[in-house]
Amino acid sequence: MAAAKALPNTPANIALIDRTNHHLFQPLLYQVATSVLSSGQIGSPIRGILRRQKNTTVIMGEAVGVDKDRKCVMVSDADREGVPLPYDYLILATGSSHSYFGHSEFEQYAPGLKTLGDAEAVRNKVLAAFELAEAEEDPSRHRDLLTFVLVGAGPTGVEMAGALAVLVRSTLRSEFRRIEPGSARVVLVDAGHRVLQQFSEDLSAAAKKRLENLGVDVRLGHPVDQIDADGVVVAGERIVSKTVIWTAGVAPSPAGKWLGVETDRAGRVRIQNDLTVPGYPEIFVIGDTASLDQDGKPLPGVAQVALQQGRYAGKLIHSRVTGGPAPRPFRYFDKGNMAVVGKGFAVLQSGRLHVSGLAAWFAWAAVHLQFLATSSLRLAVFLQWMWTYLTGQRGDRLIVEHHKSERRATAPDTNTQAAATSR
Ligand SMILES: Cc1cc2nc3c(=O)[nH]c(=O)nc-3n(C[C@H](O)[C@H](O)[C@H](O)COP(=O)(O)OP(=O)(O)OC[C@H]3O[C@@H](n4cnc5c(N)ncnc54)[C@H](O)[C@@H]3O)c2cc1C
Repeated sequence: MAAAKALPNTPANIALIDRTNHHLFQPLLYQVATSVLSSGQIGSPIRGILRRQKNTTVIMGEAVGVDKDRKCVMVSDADREGVPLPYDYLILATGSSHSYFGHSEFEQYAPGLKTLGDAEAVRNKVLAAFELAEAEEDPSRHRDLLTFVLVGAGPTGVEMAGALAVLVRSTLRSEFRRIEPGSARVVLVDAGHRVLQQFSEDLSAAAKKRLENLGVDVRLGHPVDQIDADGVVVAGERIVSKTVIWTAGVAPSPAGKWLGVETDRAGRVRIQNDLTVPGYPEIFVIGDTASLDQDGKPLPGVAQVALQQGRYAGKLIHSRVTGGPAPRPFRYFDKGNMAVVGKGFAVLQSGRLHVSGLAAWFAWAAVHLQFLATSSLRLAVFLQWMWTYLTGQRGDRLIVEHHKSERRATAPDTNTQAAATSR
């Protein structure tokens, strides 16, 4: 999206291909999963965002391969498979997906958080756990139903744990009669020895303290040995839970396989400092699916890197197409890291500046609003946050099971069938 938006006046035909119809702001996915925001408040139709950019066509389809020699990207959609789409320049920005570190069997019990579908599935699971517990007559089962385990204490795990703790202790507090939502357990597990390892030690410690004050049970220093239908096993102890959420590793998209070029150990495509693939000046790979070292260290898989690389790739292509001067090699400008921990508390690290508390939360809120795709989303999210902050009420607490309604719509209606048979 950032690359396409950097090419508005370029005399070129631009095709922006995505398998979804929307642009998504992933850093706020955990707020959809914990009912603060609804899906429509963090995602926006790509077509709508680019409606004024006349040189750009939006295609909803899945890239499934690249033929570097014929200069074609292969695209599949619901109707057609592997249709070749020719290019002069190609930008691959296909992001990443969950990595279960070789334990793909964990996936069915511990969904991750990467798409709006994932976030809604997690929200359904969390809200349904409270409904099941309220309906359950045997109080000994309440504890198992109301134990939520998050695996991975990076920004997503920490933000999710904080938001869940606030949800159970404030929003849901007065709504149930047989159960006490505040007694729900939120357990955050990580193999590392501190939460938010990409932050300084003082900010990690502040975030951990804050989580514990919110009632989160933080378990560090042991990986999860097992995840199954009954919960997780950590350091030999079983934690019984019906809701386990994976907030640990990510793996890059298969762009490296499509191109058949050098990748790093994680599978990210090694690129040069003009963001192109060595030997292929017309192919750019950017964002989470690319690997580029700066000052001897690999750039992190964060939104700022992806956005700055997108803008750079767009600028470079514009200069090549129009014969203008080429920009200088890409250099990432690190504006800092932030993570929010429950209501009105965040940690912020930017160079030597380390801040935690309410001031950091205001900075976090301002920055995240600014990154939303449209002004209407910024306004809607700002109002929702204010409302939630003041009243404790959340935006979207519906349990909507899309797949079930699809199944119902397509499954034969047994009553009609019976009637038809007897007629
Ligand atoms: C839950 C969560 C929280 C995060 N929080 C933060 C944060 O607080 N701060 C921060 O800086 N970063 C955060 N990140 C990381 C940040 O979102 C990513 O680094 C950034 O989105 C990477 O951008 P990208 O363009 O490389 O990939 P993405 O944003 O993942 O975009 C990839 C796009 O490609 C599409 N796509 C993928 N494969 C195909 C295909 N084969 N064919 C067609 N389309 C395809 C996808 O639909 C998607 O639209 C978070 C990520 C997650 C998941």
